[in-house]
Amino acid sequence: MILNRRRFLGTAAAGAALLSSPMALGQKRPRVVIVGGGAGGATAARYIAKDSKGAIEVILIEPSRTYYTCFFSNLAIGGFQPMSNLAHSYGKLASEYSVTVVHDWASAVDREKKEVRLAGGDAISYDRLVLSPGIDFIKDSIEGWDVTAQTKMPHAYKAGTQTQLLKAQIEAMPEGGTFAMVAPPNPYRCPPGPYERISMVAHVLKQRNPTAKILILDPKEKFSKQGLFMEGWETHYPGMVDWLTDEFTGGVQRVDPNTMEVVMEDETVKADVVNVIPPMQAGSIAQQAGLTNEKLVPDRSGNTAKPDG
Ligand SMILES: Cc1cc2nc3c(=O)[nH]c(=O)nc-3n(C[C@H](O)[C@H](O)[C@H](O)COP(=O)(O)OP(=O)(O)OC[C@H]3O[C@@H](n4cnc5c(N)ncnc54)[C@H](O)[C@@H]3O)c2cc1C
Repeated sequence: MILNRRRFLGTAAAGAALLSSPMALGQKRPRVVIVGGGAGGATAARYIAKDSKGAIEVILIEPSRTYYTCFFSNLAIGGFQPMSNLAHSYGKLASEYSVTVVHDWASAVDREKKEVRLAGGDAISYDRLVLSPGIDFIKDSIEGWDVTAQTKMPHAYKAGTQTQLLKAQIEAMPEGGTFAMVAPPNPYRCPPGPYERISMVAHVLKQRNPTAKILILDPKEKFSKQGLFMEGWETHYPGMVDWLTDEFTGGVQRVDPNTMEVVMEDETVKADVVNVIPPMQAGSIAQQAGLTNEKLVPDRSGNTAKPDG
């Protein structure tokens, strides 16, 4: 979410203060527009509508009719959760909390006019705006990979069909095959996420394909809960997981989704499954609205820096 908690509570309090006067005067209700119906946006919509007891009009803009949570998506890959447990619809927000859910993309925010424009052509005005668009991948940050490549080299870092595809690819790996993950640089969504995923992949392969190998090609020198993860991999999947930083590989230079190769400075790996988790940043509508700081670019230590250093 783009609003921090303090600012949001301030906004909500200001909204509450607005309530008595316009309502008493028979004026229109103040309106909060929320862009993005993920965990952040949908939670904000629910609680603004619920706590204001309908005194604030809440409009949620979200293109999808079904939201698949990233939480539990690694467990789905491991076979511990059915995909259906990740799926949520927006019906209750409308029926129980009177949130108006508009299924469309917000294409632009006009902060002067206090208006959100939709890809479908409409515009919705707001008194307060919450932007909660999640993440987008940084374009052209990995040579050879773009959204068209995700059907061959899935990221599975936005859940749903990507999760299903990655799971199917892992289950179809040839005996003794190779799973390679191109891990993301900092900062990125859910720091333990890639390594939880490795644990789930190892769990599946241990049962179905115990001679398979897992490579983590990582720009970072260390990662979240590293000691615990590495101890677990060594205990439960000895010899299966190799974590290789740029110091060993020279760094990922490019990928080729047609040949399923990952080209690094010092070697090229051909894998059966390549899970590319690209560098990421706040969703593009937040950038368009001028609410993000300078674009960050990954450096070779796995951290990110401003373009000038
Ligand atoms: C593999 C993985 C595992 C994770 N596990 C956990 C966990 O166990 N626990 C935990 O707390 N967190 C976990 N996370 C992190 C968690 O998923 C995120 O923190 C959370 O999804 C963020 O919610 P959000 O609403 O900000 O973004 P999202 O959930 O990404 O939702 C953003 C929504 O905005 C919509 N949107 C984007 N742009 C626009 C636009 N222009 N117009 C309209 N709508 C738009 C999108 O369609 C999307 O529905 C995990 C993440 C991953 C990747």
